[in-house]
Amino acid sequence: SQSIRDKWIAITIKPVTDYTLLWQAIFLATLLLSLSLYWNRRLARANQKISSTLSELNLAQTKLEEQNQILKKISTTDPLTNVFNRLKLDEALENEIQRAARNGSEFGVILLDIDHFKKVNDTYGHQVGDHSLVIFARLLETAIRSVDIVGRWGGEEFLILCPGTDENGCKLLAENLRALIEEKDFPKTGQQTASFGVTSHKLGEKVEVLIERADRALYRAKESGRNRVEVG
Ligand code: GH3
Ligand code: MG
Ligand code: MG
Repeated sequence: SQSIRDKWIAITIKPVTDYTLLWQAIFLATLLLSLSLYWNRRLARANQKISSTLSELNLAQTKLEEQNQILKKISTTDPLTNVFNRLKLDEALENEIQRAARNGSEFGVILLDIDHFKKVNDTYGHQVGDHSLVIFARLLETAIRSVDIVGRWGGEEFLILCPGTDENGCKLLAENLRALIEEKDFPKTGQQTASFGVTSHKLGEKVEVLIERADRALYRAKESGRNRVEVG
């Protein structure tokens, strides 16, 4: 009878304990599941926000780089002729001189000035003069090598920087340009000519000295009748 009683007690207590535990476990599991679902959703939203912010940032950066490129182009280009401006030429000359100092590389410059350009303006007007300058720039651009740099030095003066070229090479290019200009039939104005001053860089000398020599050679070309190349 004792054993029967023991069995009864065991049977009556066990189910009560088991249900409580089960409900607690279910409650806990549900709570954990909802919490984890909630956090997952929050994380997913946060991730979405981060990636959309990132793509916005990328877009802004691309736009900024484009704007920078445009600004750089504007700040280094002559607006009328679309060749490099004086600022860029000064920078390019300085670069060439530094390169020469580093590895002894040679380079030369060609300074050209359109002959009697004042007469073009006086006879045909400023607009025709402007158009003439544009045609000059296009002609120079197409005639030089890709390593050469052409820019507008001043009003009707252009400068060509020839990296890796000695005085004789520069003189040949200048002669070639002079002939091309002389042969061209310019709209309205017909034949136009230019005078050239050519010189090469001597190791150790500054930009001003180099340009001064080219300028003097150009002056000699003007003095001796124009439509000529003089080497200094
Ligand atoms: P030279 O053969 O001695 O060089 O004579 P030149 O008439 O070319 O030289 P000068 O220095 O007396 O005159 C230069 C002229 O170039 C005067 C100026 O009005 C003109 N010029 C300078 N810049 C521009 C420009 O952007 N557009 C136009 N249309 N003319 C310009
Ligand atoms: Mg001039
Ligand atoms: Mg002139």
